[in-house]
Amino acid sequence: MSQTSGNTILVIGGGAAGFFGAIACAEADPTARVVILERGPEVLGKVRISGGGRCNVTHACFEPKELVRFYPRGEKALLGPFHRFCSGDTVEWYESRGVPLKIEADGRMFPVSDRSQSIIDCLENAARQAGVEVRTRQKVVQMYPPEEPGQDWKVMTAGGDAFFAKAILVAAGSSAAVWDLLRHLGHTVVPPVPSLFTFNIADPRVDGLAGLVAPNARVQIAGTKWSADGPVLVTHWGLSGPGILKLSAWAARELHERSYRFEIEVNWWGNTETEDIRQQFLRSRQEQARKLVRNANPSPLPQRLWERLTIAAGIGDQQRWADLGNRQLQELAEQNGRCLFSVGGKSTFKEEFVTAGGVALDEVDFKTFESKIHRGLFLAGEVLDIDAVTGGFNFQAAWTGGWIAGKAMAG
Ligand SMILES: Cc1cc2nc3c(=O)[nH]c(=O)nc-3n(C[C@H](O)[C@H](O)[C@H](O)COP(=O)(O)OP(=O)(O)OC[C@H]3O[C@@H](n4cnc5c(N)ncnc54)[C@H](O)[C@@H]3O)c2cc1C
Repeated sequence: MSQTSGNTILVIGGGAAGFFGAIACAEADPTARVVILERGPEVLGKVRISGGGRCNVTHACFEPKELVRFYPRGEKALLGPFHRFCSGDTVEWYESRGVPLKIEADGRMFPVSDRSQSIIDCLENAARQAGVEVRTRQKVVQMYPPEEPGQDWKVMTAGGDAFFAKAILVAAGSSAAVWDLLRHLGHTVVPPVPSLFTFNIADPRVDGLAGLVAPNARVQIAGTKWSADGPVLVTHWGLSGPGILKLSAWAARELHERSYRFEIEVNWWGNTETEDIRQQFLRSRQEQARKLVRNANPSPLPQRLWERLTIAAGIGDQQRWADLGNRQLQELAEQNGRCLFSVGGKSTFKEEFVTAGGVALDEVDFKTFESKIHRGLFLAGEVLDIDAVTGGFNFQAAWTGGWIAGKAMAG
């Protein structure tokens, strides 16, 4: 089948960025024929499973300058775009279409319904109302740029269909095949590596404690500058929680190079230095002299974790604070403030994961999300070398990029 162009815009990928781009384009130019080509039998598959089925749509951080700080890759590039379409605009976009969002204690924003289906329905309705055509089972396998200015792009699908368009938006997410096509078009693709993962740790200090949370920890990759603050959660396989996930994002490339085998130092007290922790223990020795160390816990940690740290420091279950010598006191402070763990691999964080890497950012004009190499080729979402820590920021980059590209293609 051959499809002629007229005023056709093609969107490759029916995900978050693709839908936002298609809707923005069709709403801005009702004369345009906007077609989404999706390789799968269904669109918006990742939205469906996102945020544990609740879809963490965005984050309650409404200042572009602050928002960009959550992006290990893309911080500079996104500043301008966020001034045009930021998290507040996302909230308004959904609320004005009948999907109110709510803010959770940690700043993550979800639909009030707590169902990703609300977001899917909203996007599909908005696309329908704007006249966007959605074609599923249309895997794009070739993209040919116009041979001369004014001519069309030609896009081939696996089934042999040819589509012609004056502009195309590539919003195919982390697809190795599509990155290959873009490489053939002259783009540089920063090699993809996983981001947002949890750390596998087999260690008696945390074994059997799954579910415990240290509310304010600091985690650092030993011997490096990489560190992150936040709650740390003990899991069946090791450590997770916002602190660990943030660290996995910032150090994604470095950890990949180390084959996910490295050491971390956990300060279970967050920003309190080990020496200050030791001082606190000196006070406990005075003030709680007759109490058992195991039971009289002066730390901000859950009791069972505290007990494990006392065992690791070599403190017996009948030892009282007054019995602790300076060396044991120091060792207990080390276990609290510089607790060293060997990480032996990673696990997928099922609520959200992304790929670091993608089309190099210096090859994209972030006023429009158009390629600097080919006119009429637009790129948005995870196909770009942009990714964020967990919390709704990855979708925000997709909404922003899709919206700006969509408007630009209409213009
Ligand atoms: C389990 C999970 C949970 C997540 N939860 C959250 C969350 O709660 N909040 C958050 O901010 N982020 C979350 N993320 C990350 C977020 O889903 C992505 O950042 C976002 O989906 C990227 O949007 P995108 O449109 O660029 O890509 P995608 O959503 O991946 O969409 C790309 C689309 O392109 C299609 N495609 C690929 N190749 C072709 C081709 N050759 N031809 C045609 N179509 C093609 C794909 O089938 C797909 O439908 C989660 C990710 C995962 C995996």
